[in-house]
Amino acid sequence: VAHRDGAAHIARGGVALQGGGRLIKGRLAEGKLRGVGLLDPDPRSTPILTIDLSIESGDDGGPFDPTDHVALRRVVFDRMRDAGVPIGIGRYDEVRWWYTGDAFRTPAPDGEEWRTIHLGIDLFAGPGTPVRAPLAGRIASVADNAERLDYGPTLIVEHELADEGGAPVRFWTLYGHLDPAVLEEARPGRAVAAGDSLGSVGAPPRNGDWAPHLHFQIIVDRLGYDGTFPGVAAPGQREVWLALSPDPNALLAIPGETRAPRPEPGPALLAARAARIGPSLRLSYRRPLHIVRGRGTRLFDAAGQPFLDCVNNVAHVGHAHPRVSAAACRQMGLLNTNTRYLHDAILTYAERLAALFPQPLSVCFFVCSGTEANELALRMARTHTGKVGAVVLDAAYHGNSSSVVNLSPYKFDGPGGKGTRPWVRVAPMPDAYRGRYRGDGADVGTRYAAHVAESVAALEREPTWFGDRPPGAAAFFHESLLSCGGQIPLPPGFLGAAYDAARAAGAVCVADEVQVGFGRVGTHFWAFEEHDVVPDIVTLGKPIGNGHPLGAVVTTPDIARSFDNGMEYFNTFGGNPVSCAVGLAVLDVIEEEGLRENALRAGRHLLGRLEELMMRHPAIGDVRGRGLFVGIELVEDRETRVPAPEYADGLVQRMRERGVLLSTDGPDHNVIKIKPPLVFSERDADLLASRLDEVLSETAFRR
Ligand code: PMP
Repeated sequence: VAHRDGAAHIARGGVALQGGGRLIKGRLAEGKLRGVGLLDPDPRSTPILTIDLSIESGDDGGPFDPTDHVALRRVVFDRMRDAGVPIGIGRYDEVRWWYTGDAFRTPAPDGEEWRTIHLGIDLFAGPGTPVRAPLAGRIASVADNAERLDYGPTLIVEHELADEGGAPVRFWTLYGHLDPAVLEEARPGRAVAAGDSLGSVGAPPRNGDWAPHLHFQIIVDRLGYDGTFPGVAAPGQREVWLALSPDPNALLAIPGETRAPRPEPGPALLAARAARIGPSLRLSYRRPLHIVRGRGTRLFDAAGQPFLDCVNNVAHVGHAHPRVSAAACRQMGLLNTNTRYLHDAILTYAERLAALFPQPLSVCFFVCSGTEANELALRMARTHTGKVGAVVLDAAYHGNSSSVVNLSPYKFDGPGGKGTRPWVRVAPMPDAYRGRYRGDGADVGTRYAAHVAESVAALEREPTWFGDRPPGAAAFFHESLLSCGGQIPLPPGFLGAAYDAARAAGAVCVADEVQVGFGRVGTHFWAFEEHDVVPDIVTLGKPIGNGHPLGAVVTTPDIARSFDNGMEYFNTFGGNPVSCAVGLAVLDVIEEEGLRENALRAGRHLLGRLEELMMRHPAIGDVRGRGLFVGIELVEDRETRVPAPEYADGLVQRMRERGVLLSTDGPDHNVIKIKPPLVFSERDADLLASRLDEVLSETAFRR
C-alpha cells in the first residue's frame, strides 16, 4: 500500500504548493470554485446533521470499539433518522480512531504514527443515493480499492484552471466508497459536466465495509498515486496533507459545521494546569500525554494515537468497559443517594463481595477510595484493640490522608516527608532480591517476619511522647505484594509468621489489596490467599470500581461489632447505589470474561517473554511477579545489583515515545512496574516485550 511511504510524498507535496496548490487554494478561498450539488438530494438545500466522529466524540455512543463498524453504522444512521435528515456530515480535519488496519500506520521519527486526521468530507446517505460531479472535468481514474477499510470503488476526476498567464493548472477531486456499478459505467478520459452522474453511494461490505457514505476530497497534487490518494494523515504530517487536500467545503458550500475544531494544544493545557491546579499534582512523562479516550488496554491521545497501557490497574476490566458504564448510567438515571435507606444494590453487592472471601471475613463497609478504606481499617483496629500503634513495611504506600500518610514510609521517608511518627514502626521490606535476606531459602520469609515481631514488641514496650504508656500494636498493615516497594512478591512463610507475631500481641492484621486484589495475581482472587493466611481486615480500592471512586473494607463480625461503639459511621458517598451498581458490574465482568484466568495465562506468557529478554539484555537484573503484577529490576551490574534509576527512567520515557505506557517504582526508582488492565492479552504482552526488546537494543540502552 503506497500510502505508507509518507516522507517522499511530503517532500514533493511541499513543491506542489509552490505552484498549482497555491492558485487552487486562492480560487477556493475567493469562492471562485463553487460546484453544484454533490448528492441528490443536494446537501446545500436539504436538512443535514453534522456527526461528531472525532476521538473525543459523544456522538459515536460513548463506550465503543473502534473496530466495530457495524455499531458505527448504527449510531450514524440512528442519529440521522432521529433528526429526520437524509444526509449526515463527517468533518474535514477531524481526529478519528476508526482507522485501525495496518495500512493506517506510517513511519515517523519516533517509530510510527497512526494516520488519524480526516482529509475529506463524508456525506452519509442511504446506499444508492446519486452522486453528481460538482465541477466539470475529465475522469482520471476508476479503481476498486477493495481492501477492508479502504475506499472500495473510487473515482478521481481531473479539473483544469488557467493561471494568471493562461497556463493550465490541474487539480483533482476524489469520490470514495461508491457503488460498484461505477466500475462498469465510468471510463478514464471521459469528460464530465457539472451535475453529471458519478455513480451512487455504495453499501458495506463492498464499499470498504464502512457505513454508507461518500468520501469527497480535493487533491492539488496526486503525488504519483493512481486510483487512490490518502484520505487520512498522520498528525506529524498534518499541515502538508491539509495543504495537499484543502478544505473541500470551499467547493461544496455545505452549510453548518464541516470542519472539526482543533483540539487544545498541549502547551495551552500545561499553562492552564500550572495556573489552576496545585503544583504538587504531577504529570507523568517528560513529554506529558493528553489522553482523551480509553478502550480495553489502550489509551488514545488527542491526536488519536493509541498507547498500550501497562500500568493502569484501576481500569481493571479495561478502559471504558461498556458493561460498567452502562450500569453507572442506568443507576445514575434512577437514583443516587446515601446509604440511610433500604436499597437492594448495597445488599446484593455486599453479598457478592463477601462471598469472595474466606470466613470469617463477611462484613463490608463501603468508602470512596483506597485511602478511606485504610483510614477506616486503622480506626477499626484501634477501636477493636484499644491500642494506637501500627507496624508497616518499608516503602509502603497506604494512602494520602493525615493518618494513613503516616502509615506510608514511601511518603514520610520521601521528599517533603516528616519521618516516622512515634506510634508507627517500620519493618524492612521482605525483598529476596535486594534486601538483607536474599534468595529462595525456606527461612527467608521467617527471618523477615522476625522484624515484624520486633516492631510489634517495640510498640508494646516503648512509651512515646504522648504519654508514659506505650502505644501498643493495634495493627500490622501490609500489601500482599509490594507495589511502591518495587513489585515484590512476599517470600513464602513471611505472612504466616508475621500474622502470628502480630496476633500474639493482640494486634489485628490488615491486608491492603488496593493494588493487587480482584484476580490480578491469577492463581487466586486475593493475593493474600497464596500465603494461606486469613487477615482480620482487608482493604480494597482502585480496581473495585474500574475507575469509579469506590473502596471497601471487609472484616469479621467481631471487629465490626467492636467498631459499633456508639459513634455512628457515616460516609456520604460510600456505598451509594451507583457505586454498588458499578462494583457489581465489575464483578460480573471479571467472572464472565474469565479475567482472573486471563491474568494467569497472559501473566505467565509475559514473564516468559521478559525472562527471554533478560538473557539478552544485561541491564535486566531481575524479572518477577504474579499474574499481571510484574516488575523488571534494572541494574548497573548483575553481580553488584547496583540500581539503575536513570536508565529505568530513560527506558520508560523512550517506551512512551514508542506507544507503551510504563512507570518506575521501588525505593531506588529502578523497577519498571507492569500492572495493566486485566484484559491484557498475550498479544499485548508480545507487543510490550518486542517494543522493550527494540528499545533495549537501541544504542542509548545497549549494555
Ligand atoms: N493502598 C495502596 C497499596 C495503594 O497503592 C494506594 C494508591 N496508590 C492506596 C492504598 C490509596 O488509594 P487511593 O489513592 O484510592 O486513596
